[in-house]
Amino acid sequence: MRIAVIGAGIVGVATAHELALAGFDVTVFEQRGSVAAEASFAIGGLIGPGHAAPWGSSLTPRASMLMHLPWLWRRWRTMRRPRGAWWSAALHRLASFSRDRMLELARTLDMEFEQNPGCLVLLRTAGDLKRAQPGLAQLREWGVAHELVEAGSARAMEPGLGDTTPLYAALHLPHDGVGNCRQFAHLLKAQTQRQGARFRFDLAVSRLSPGEQPQLRTSDGEQHGFDRIVVCTGAAAAELLAPLKLRLPLVPVYGYAVTAPLRPIEGLPLPGPRAALIDQRHHVSITRLGQRVRVAGIHELGGRPDANALPALRTLYRVLEDWFPGAASLRDAQHWRGARPTLPEALPVLGDSGLPGIWLNLGHGAAGWSLACGAARVLSEQMAGRTPPIETTGLTIERWR
Ligand SMILES: Cc1cc2nc3c(=O)[nH]c(=O)nc-3n(C[C@H](O)[C@H](O)[C@H](O)COP(=O)(O)OP(=O)(O)OC[C@H]3O[C@@H](n4cnc5c(N)ncnc54)[C@H](O)[C@@H]3O)c2cc1C
Repeated sequence: MRIAVIGAGIVGVATAHELALAGFDVTVFEQRGSVAAEASFAIGGLIGPGHAAPWGSSLTPRASMLMHLPWLWRRWRTMRRPRGAWWSAALHRLASFSRDRMLELARTLDMEFEQNPGCLVLLRTAGDLKRAQPGLAQLREWGVAHELVEAGSARAMEPGLGDTTPLYAALHLPHDGVGNCRQFAHLLKAQTQRQGARFRFDLAVSRLSPGEQPQLRTSDGEQHGFDRIVVCTGAAAAELLAPLKLRLPLVPVYGYAVTAPLRPIEGLPLPGPRAALIDQRHHVSITRLGQRVRVAGIHELGGRPDANALPALRTLYRVLEDWFPGAASLRDAQHWRGARPTLPEALPVLGDSGLPGIWLNLGHGAAGWSLACGAARVLSEQMAGRTPPIETTGLTIERWR
């Protein structure tokens, strides 16, 4: 079967890889000049089912949120009771399977992508611990390994943590961790090409025509026919699918990242974090990526891509200086803004779209890097006509029918 994958973010690359591995003839179309150039570019890098719990996802209020009132209503209605909810179970199943699939790929393909195990959720005060209780309850329900540790133990795990900011306690998630998403995407792309897949860069897909032999039109005016088309265009998917009367409640949730080289001090180990941390108060992650530190977070619903980034960046710098003062060379810091492709249930939609020949793998929200490898495997098994490796209830388009 000849399959086109549209979009080469982490989701598109992982999808192309699984499809090529399953023996399909794969062509990837990407409007940018390389893989992972949009939402998968400079992300926090957290991996694992633990970080998908509620401490990572509160929305920053903005006036433009009003434009998304129906979306907010849908989200509130779905998420008000996380415990025992269908979406929570689906998220956990996919996140756990995805972490295992990523580790398996890293092992079998011998991939190095600045990965480090372990994540600490930092709780500044007793109040923070109280606010973390719903997240803790969710971890217990999911059976995710976790341990509440005293400040002293947390500092022993992350010796670079500064001592001027009060730390009440921390939650240790031993099976979560960090890895460089963009680097992984480049490595996986090379592997996918070795399996015979083609990547067509600098070509935007402007139109889809569903059918027995679905077609797509590219920005150079060419028409291409395939047996199946998989849409992995992240936050841009709504625009591509709307002319087909497939209206997904997909919105961009903007976030920011600051990446800076660590500042070595002669004779001392490199400062900064060893692996991953989350500041629970600010919903900001601090991660070690090779010789660099990255602070990432902020969830702005709506707004313009060129909105004033200053307040968000200020928060990120403050969190870095609170926990790792002086550890990084801030003069050389790089800033980035990306749009998380987010559906109200914080779950992606996978599988057959209901339109002949058009399949979907999109809407991975705040955890696309964590979910990509698992979602890709589930989709490729579905397309091969085999039983998917996990239960897909809640992950398909059926959830809106
Ligand atoms: C600040 C920030 C921090 C984050 N931190 C984490 C984290 O720690 N852990 C985690 O798991 N997730 C994290 N995420 C979320 C994660 O980055 C996303 O969920 C994920 O990158 C989405 O991947 P994607 O492939 O669906 O989208 P994208 O990476 O945006 O890929 C979509 C691709 O489709 C292409 N495209 C779009 N339209 C067309 C078209 N018409 N024709 C051709 N190509 C097209 C785009 O150019 C793009 O390359 C973070 C996100 C942000 C913004």
